[in-house]
Amino acid sequence: SPAEQTQEPAHYIDINGLRKTFSNGTVVAVDDFNLDIEEDEFVVFLGPSGCGKTTTLRCISGLELPDEGEVILNGRDVTFDKPKDRDLAFVFQNITLFPHMTVRENIRFGLDMKTDLSKDEKKRKVEETAELLDIAETLDRQPTALSGGQQQRVSIGRAMVMEPTAFLLDEPFANLDANLRDRMQTEIKRLQRELGKSMIFVTHDQEEAMTLGDKIVIMEDGEIQQVGTPYEIYNQPKNLFIAKFIGSPSTNIFEGTAKINGEEIYIETDDFEVRLPNVRASEFAASNGDMVFLGIRPEYMHVVPKSEGIFNAEIDVKELHGEHDAIYFTVGETPFTVTEPQGQVQDTERVKGVDFDTDKIWLFNEREERIH
Ligand code: ATP
Repeated sequence: SPAEQTQEPAHYIDINGLRKTFSNGTVVAVDDFNLDIEEDEFVVFLGPSGCGKTTTLRCISGLELPDEGEVILNGRDVTFDKPKDRDLAFVFQNITLFPHMTVRENIRFGLDMKTDLSKDEKKRKVEETAELLDIAETLDRQPTALSGGQQQRVSIGRAMVMEPTAFLLDEPFANLDANLRDRMQTEIKRLQRELGKSMIFVTHDQEEAMTLGDKIVIMEDGEIQQVGTPYEIYNQPKNLFIAKFIGSPSTNIFEGTAKINGEEIYIETDDFEVRLPNVRASEFAASNGDMVFLGIRPEYMHVVPKSEGIFNAEIDVKELHGEHDAIYFTVGETPFTVTEPQGQVQDTERVKGVDFDTDKIWLFNEREERIH
């Protein structure tokens, strides 16, 4: 019918106006949280410690009940349903396997509660799950005889075998060493693609978030700051907090003043002046004399010979940073970083010229919102 045709397609998980406080309302852990998640979407909640990621996840899972708002799962309001009635799988940072049971018994644990499955079906499901997670050869061992990565796979397997509608993962790889964490990230992503299920993954690690997320939800102080693809979050941060939080080394920030001269726009700081190309004064979201923050990523600044750049500055330290050198400077009172290909900048002569890719400059207003 026409009425049906005009309906919005249902989102798989819909979180509306979620609010959760603790300690008689004095601690606001989550506020006005709204989010739609599609089936088969990989969503990452990212933010500094204490921003409310875990509390949000616990409200979705039913381990916590919200003060306000609703959680809709596949069209069904589950806000006040018990965790076991939500058909969601939860994987925690701390691995909680039963040490006296084998891997096989650990994975089968939830299935044993199900009366509608035959013994053979349970066996087959456990073995398929172990195969998919590459732990088939460990099935008859005790968890204590496994590596940390294998143990975390078993706990994922235990969740997976129940065939939940969605997975909630709270920093599941935080206790693994760096190499293993990288491998597990690749595998969880592959697994999610294979299963075609929604996953919500909580982390405070921006690199992990960028690697995994189809959609990243950045939180600060209980509130969503931005929702976007990794590309959008990296290239179009909505505010200064996100610009500084995402990227390593961090985005450089200089305080300055907007100067408008006819159609030309300059940013003037205590230490330099730079013209913004491709911006028309008539369309510019600031007025002459407004205080602004100029933001630019280290890869969009360049070290050039002394007096050939926009300003001169002295090198503090140079260090190897992945495939790049990170060169740390201070101009006036402001520290900043420039990245250049390894070995390109010699630091025997310590005063250098510094240049900008001026088309990569971001501007933020006094309220720290991005205006350009
Ligand atoms: P982390 O990365 O450190 O786990 P997080 O982003 O997951 O942090 P939450 O654990 O959700 O943050 O905590 C959000 C806020 O709510 C914090 O200020 C925290 O101290 C507070 N909080 C969480 N649980 C409780 C509780 N049971 N009682 C009181 N305050 C709580």
